[in-house]
Amino acid sequence: MSTLPITFEDVAAAHERLRGVAHRTPVLTSSTANERTGAQLFFKCENLQRMGAFKFRGAYNAIAQFTPEQKAGGVITFSSGNHAQAIALSARLLGVKAVIVMPHDAPAVKVEATRGYGGEVVFYDRYTEDREALGKRLAAERGLTLIPPYDHAHVMAGQGTAAKELFEETGELDLLLTPLGGGGLLSGCATAAHALSPACTVIGVEPEAGNDGQRSLQSGEIVHIDTPKTLADGAQTQHLGNLTFAVIRERVSEIVTVSDAELVDTMKFFASRMKLVVEPTGCLAAAAVLHGKVDVRGKRVGVLISGGNVDLLRFAELVQAAG
Ligand SMILES: *Cc1c(COP(=O)(O)O)cnc(C)c1O
Repeated sequence: MSTLPITFEDVAAAHERLRGVAHRTPVLTSSTANERTGAQLFFKCENLQRMGAFKFRGAYNAIAQFTPEQKAGGVITFSSGNHAQAIALSARLLGVKAVIVMPHDAPAVKVEATRGYGGEVVFYDRYTEDREALGKRLAAERGLTLIPPYDHAHVMAGQGTAAKELFEETGELDLLLTPLGGGGLLSGCATAAHALSPACTVIGVEPEAGNDGQRSLQSGEIVHIDTPKTLADGAQTQHLGNLTFAVIRERVSEIVTVSDAELVDTMKFFASRMKLVVEPTGCLAAAAVLHGKVDVRGKRVGVLISGGNVDLLRFAELVQAAG
């Protein structure tokens, strides 16, 4: 009997909720990447998901399960990244009001994107205020339901649908690699892998500057770090969640790291060879494979591309600076 926070049945139920709502994103291959690594690689392209990242899956799965009272009250979250846009879009599709707590110096494009999806933005001062405390206070005062970016069973199950689709397309795999921030994606995908490809080794990939997940898996306890300095802004988390870690320690074999330079090199590879725009965080898993962090020779390998939301000028700067 499993005592883990989510089961494959939760992932399958999430997949039903997402049917006809989320994109079934393509699985692409590249003979150049296969030759370079000696493996057979299958790239699951969540950069082509609605709002540009897999986070739509978890956010929609969570709000879709609100009670009528919760739906009438609205949803709140305190993330300023892809999860904010995922919540705002999902809430709009489900006719629910969304409040997003963002730092007052958040990039204008992110504020605009969130408002564009109909979300109300509440600003806080990142130097003097605690966003989590503010989120909780607003939730209580205004009758909103808080959906955090990763440590929530419905969010985790929703993210796992990306791997479920991948296995449905490829059959069993030897290895599956996904990016790792707070662990929603990795825990959901590892749950799908355990059910659909039991012999598959699941590996999480973090930025070198923020290897708290790797240290947590090694030590058996959740390690907390300061906000890491890395281009992978979607993986700048300070620690794994209690729920995500419970799954990761059971279902994930290893966590490896890559450098910012390796992420930029991978962005260039995707743009030039596969005609894909991938944000730095979205490149984590592919960077580990292309830069030899994992022995993939002769294996069938799933590689999750998690998102494509990067400002175009920023993209050009990064690629140009790398030469
Ligand atoms: C949030 C995010 C991640 C990390 O996901 P977690 O569930 O926090 O581990 C990776 N890539 C992108 C593009 C993201 O937006």
